[in-house]
Amino acid sequence: MMAMVGDSGDEVVGRIICETYGSDLGPQQPFPNNCVLCKRCGKWVGNDGKAQMRKLRIRVRG
Ligand SMILES: [Zn+2]
Repeated sequence: MMAMVGDSGDEVVGRIICETYGSDLGPQQPFPNNCVLCKRCGKWVGNDGKAQMRKLRIRVRG
């Protein structure tokens, strides 16, 4: 993995990289529960780049 050097700011924030497509989804979130929607996969991706299971209210028949 390449180290990315962006603007030389005082704050060093990692990037969220989708593990499926390698897309840069933006800076990492301050809270681990926060996820970013990857538009390519249509999945919510956490700071670790892995798709997260969102607690969706799904009605299951039966
Ligand atoms: Zn993705």
